[in-house]
Amino acid sequence: MILPVYLYGQPVLKKIAQNINKDYPELEKFIEDMFETMYQSDGVGLAAPQIGRAIRLFVIDGEPMSDDDETLKGFKKVFINAEIYEKSGEEWYFNEGCLSVPGIREDVLRKSEIKIKYLDENFVEHDETYKGIAARIIQHEYDHLEGKLIPDRLPVLRRTMLKGKLASIAKGKVNVNYKFKVPR
Ligand code: ZN
Repeated sequence: MILPVYLYGQPVLKKIAQNINKDYPELEKFIEDMFETMYQSDGVGLAAPQIGRAIRLFVIDGEPMSDDDETLKGFKKVFINAEIYEKSGEEWYFNEGCLSVPGIREDVLRKSEIKIKYLDENFVEHDETYKGIAARIIQHEYDHLEGKLIPDRLPVLRRTMLKGKLASIAKGKVNVNYKFKVPR
């Protein structure tokens, strides 16, 4: 089932998301819906707060970007209760977009390497290191669990310049091909 994407201005996007356990209701179906929603909107990642649930879960499928970075081939994963416990390497800019902030693409500065602990969809624990665009996508999705969006990662001046655009998004004045929800 395709779920509506919550847009900038929705309070849930500002919340710190909470861990879940195996008993979380209909988790399997929810993960399936997350992937379906992500594919339909041409995203490479989607975090639960983006569909209105403040839980620590995000899904990624980097395949569409594997021409730019071959480590993304087959990089399809579910991250539950993730914790990035180390960031290292050079900071680099990469042009990011976000389904919750449509029409805005910005160069965001992030570290090049991360170490992350998480549970997969079967609640099996993993401890992995990621670099390059994979590390980039993970950090973007992880930000959603911390209540942060692209504008929060920009210099103050740049953020100020985007104010008008962001206000329009919060009112639902967007041109997208997916279902969305804005604050009332
Ligand atoms: Zn996003």
